[in-house]
Order: sequence, then structure tokens, then C-alpha cells
Amino acid sequence: MERMEELKLKQREFVRERGWEQFHSPKNIAMALSVEVSEIVELFQWSTEDESKALNDDGLAAIRDEIGDVLNYLVLLADSLDIDPVGVAIKKIEKNRVKYPIGPKQINISNKKL
Ligand SMILES: [Mg+2]
Repeated sequence: MERMEELKLKQREFVRERGWEQFHSPKNIAMALSVEVSEIVELFQWSTEDESKALNDDGLAAIRDEIGDVLNYLVLLADSLDIDPVGVAIKKIEKNRVKYPIGPKQINISNKKL
């Protein structure tokens, strides 16, 4: 939690130093976030399932950079709307527990692995 707050404050400083607040409407940040997510997808484009699980050092470095971009824009978007991203993510997991209860299907999947 403290690191998320640190990240948010660092982003505010970075943006303020450059005078970029004028460009950071929620709409623009959401669009930038979408582009950064696509950059992750692009890194995996045409990879097989196995290749996507066995990235070399350069591939991992590229993924790390893009995950950083995605998280930065996601936190920036949340900050622009005064949303606590960790809080809403935890709430969403709880909603999904109700929406997707543990049932027989999960047992069948487990049995297939045996
Ligand atoms: Mg990027």
C-alpha cells in the first residue's frame, strides 16, 4: 500500500515538473493505458503458448517496461478520478467470488490434472 502511494506521488511530481496536467484528462489517460496494454500484447503476438512462458532476457526486459507503463497509466487514471486502485481491486475480487462460486466445474478441472 505504501508503495502504491509512493508511486502516485512520484507520478504527480513527474507530471507537474513537465506541465503535463493539461493533457491528463481521464479520457486521454484511458486511451494511453489502452495503447500500453496493446504494447504488451504486441510483444506476445504470434508467440506460441510455450514461447510466451519462456521469454529470454530481452523479452522479459521489454515486458517489464510495458508493465511499468501500464501500471503507471492505471494509477494515474485512478488518481485523476480519486479512486483507490488497490481498494477497488480487492472489492472486485470479492464481487467475483459471488459471481463465480466454487463448484463442480473446478473439481472436474482438478481431476483432469491428476
Ligand atoms: Mg510502452
